[in-house]
Parts: sequence; structure tokens; C-alpha cells
Amino acid sequence: MADIKPAERISGMGPSVWVEFTKLASDTKAINLGQGFPDFAAPEHVVKGLSDVLQSSNPLTHQYTRGFGHPRLVNAIAALYSKHMSHEINPMNEVLVSVGAYGSLFYIFMGLVSPGDEVIIIEPFFDCYEPMTRMAGGTPRFIALKPKNENVTSTKDFVLDPEELAGMFNEKTKAIIVNNPNNPLGKVFNREELEMIANLCKKHNVLCVSDEVYEYMVYEGQKQIRMATLPDMWERTITVCSAGKIFSVTGWKLGWAIAPNHLLNSLMLVHQNCVYTCSTVLQEAVAVSLEKEMALLGKPECYLTSLAEELNGKRDKMADLLRDINLTPIIPDGGYFIMTDISHLDVDVEKYGEGRKDFKFVRWMTKELGVATIPCSAFYGEEHKALGERYIRFCFIKENSTMEKAAERLKKWTEERHA
Ligand code: PMP
Ligand code: GLN
Repeated sequence: MADIKPAERISGMGPSVWVEFTKLASDTKAINLGQGFPDFAAPEHVVKGLSDVLQSSNPLTHQYTRGFGHPRLVNAIAALYSKHMSHEINPMNEVLVSVGAYGSLFYIFMGLVSPGDEVIIIEPFFDCYEPMTRMAGGTPRFIALKPKNENVTSTKDFVLDPEELAGMFNEKTKAIIVNNPNNPLGKVFNREELEMIANLCKKHNVLCVSDEVYEYMVYEGQKQIRMATLPDMWERTITVCSAGKIFSVTGWKLGWAIAPNHLLNSLMLVHQNCVYTCSTVLQEAVAVSLEKEMALLGKPECYLTSLAEELNGKRDKMADLLRDINLTPIIPDGGYFIMTDISHLDVDVEKYGEGRKDFKFVRWMTKELGVATIPCSAFYGEEHKALGERYIRFCFIKENSTMEKAAERLKKWTEERHA
């Protein structure tokens, strides 16, 4: 075989957690509460919007559109987020449309992180932040959200130690990534926490990447506070969003980054040379959907806000189902995942592949009980994986019947064990 070596920048990289566990869920035909996607229909107006675009008699509908974002879409995004961010966003140079939020994140690392730069990542974190930092030649520096005490049951009790965080900033620090609401924990950062981070960014001249893909999925008593709206933070924040998340169409893979042009320009330079332009029909359809939603903001029919109400109920249902089988869920305030402690369960999972206990446990549960989830040590850096190993993540953007069926399977196992 020809001895052609992989590039240095991917050396040591293996399959991501999604590669293994999405395949396992599909191969075993397990009930899939793993990878995050809804198993119910996307809003009618969004799907119809796309089918109308496809029927358009304008032949240009099917051709390339403006590289940095389809004009109708960037206009809609700028109009919507100008309201949210109390800042007049320029659609032409402060918005960039990408292939999913993943695309925007990749451009951020490629366009702004140089070899030797340090990137602060808050654990548990959406797993791609680490390999993206490394591919750019940067060094990830991890800091964990830690439970205030043993047996916490709310994500509010997972907090950053301000002194520990302050100690991580130095002259090499280029960026900090804040995922708010967070995946997998579902923590929604409050104003005080965000201000603490913002003050450190300003003090040390650091970029803040605010991954807000779950921006509308915030539950009772909580509020989404956008990092870019904090005093003097617009100029150093890139906000990352996803149409897939807000419209329940994860397969459309369309996202965007919003930032002042002096930051966004670096992302645009990467984008123009690797993707150049995203799908025109999807951009047109998302634009139409955003226009409709903007007209509905504040009304009960608004999908963006009514989805949160529906998900609030699903979160409570999932939590009840888990408690019913003696598991202890950590109740999220946002997002659509729920982390659950499994460390007390005495199951022999040794023969279920390589790696940490949670990985083996999820393989066992998927294969033997037919319920797929995600192991949480995947969301921690090497040094802190032991913190995540005690949890698995359940996705609750599912039909109630799907969650009930999964719970029945788990309950049956619990009852057989105690029989
Ligand atoms: N960031 C976070 C926190 C996510 O959970 C996801 C989920 N896919 C993404 C980014 C990527 O989103 P997209 O599917 O739009 O690429
Ligand atoms: N964000 C989704 C999740 O956390 C999907 C991730 C993925 O498919 N790579 O489940």
C-alpha cells in the first residue's frame, strides 16, 4: 500500500462520538434518544416554503446566489437579530451564511486562530470545539462547569470558578467559546456569569465565540442573554446560529455567523475559498420562513417561541420518566438534552468495546435495551473525562410516545433486575 501519511493537523484524530453512536443507533434500530434531532414534522410553513421555492418558475432559483449569503436571507437575518441585539446589523458585511453552525465554527477557527494561540473551552462542550482548535494549530485550555455540591439536580448548580477562569487568560489567549444554552448540559448562563466572562475578554483583548444555536429553546423563568449585547462586547463577539435548530430542520444544514465586519471578514476569506456559496433554494426558503416568523413574534403562533413551550413540557416529561426508574436527571434550563447520572448503576459493561465506562454503558444500553443515548465524557477534554464519565445524555426533542416507549424498555430492565 502506498505510504501516504495524513496531514499533521489531523494526527491522533479518531472518529467522533456522532460517527460511532449514530451508526450504532441505526444498526441496532434502537429508539434514538442520542443525536439531537426532532422525530416530528417541521413547521408546515417552513416545509411549504421550500416546496414553493422548488416550484418557482424563475430559472435562477436553481443557480448560485451571492457568496456570503443570499440577499433575501441576510436581510431577514439582519432584521431579526437587529431587534434581538439592539444593534443595527449590516446584512451585507455583518452576516455570513454557512453550511450549518458547524460551517461558521470552522471558519472561526481557520480564520482567527493561529498556531500557538490558546482557546478557552468550557466543559462540558460541544465536541467539535476541541478538534477544530487543534486543526487550526491552537491549544485548547479546558475549564469545567463544576457542581456546587454532590447530587445536584439543576444545571444552575453547575458553575464556573471565577478565579480559575481568570487564571486561564494570558497573553496567548485568543478566544473563549461560550455555548449558551449549552449542549449537553442545558445550562443557560445568567447575566452575572456572562459579565464575568465578558470582563475577562475585555481585560485581555480576547475574542468571544458565542454559540447560540439553542437561542430560542430556553425554559420557564430563564432568559436568553446574548453575549454580543453586553457593554462593549459587540466588537469582540461572533454569534453562531443554526436554521436547523430554530426551525426543526437539522437536515437542511444552514447556519450563520453574526459579527462586526472586522471579525467576520476573516471568516469570509475562508468561506470564499472552500464553500463559496450555500444552497440557494434552502436560503430562499429559510428567508421566507424568517420573514413569516418575524411578523409573528410575540404571538402564540410564532414557531420560534412556541417550540420552547412545547419543549418545556417534553423536558419535564423526560425528567419524570427518568426519575420513575430511579435515575437522577440534571434539569436543563435550555437546549434539548438532559444529562443523567448513571454512576450508581451496577451493570457489567466490560465487554462492550473500548474506552471509558460511559461509552461501554451506552453501547450496552443501545444493544441490549434498545435505547440509544450519548456518553458524556465525549464532551470533556482528556484531563477531565472522569467528570463526564458518570453521565449519559438523553435527547428530548421527540414525540412523547417515543420517550414513553424508551422509558418502558428501561423500566422493564429495572423491574427484571429487581425481581
Ligand atoms: N453547536 C452546537 C452547540 C450544537 O449542538 C450543534 C448541533 N449540531 C451545532 C453547533 C451544529 O449545528 P448545525 O447542525 O447547524 O451545523
Ligand atoms: N448537535 C447535535 C447533537 O448534539 C448533532 C451533532 C452531530 O450530529 N454532529 O446531538
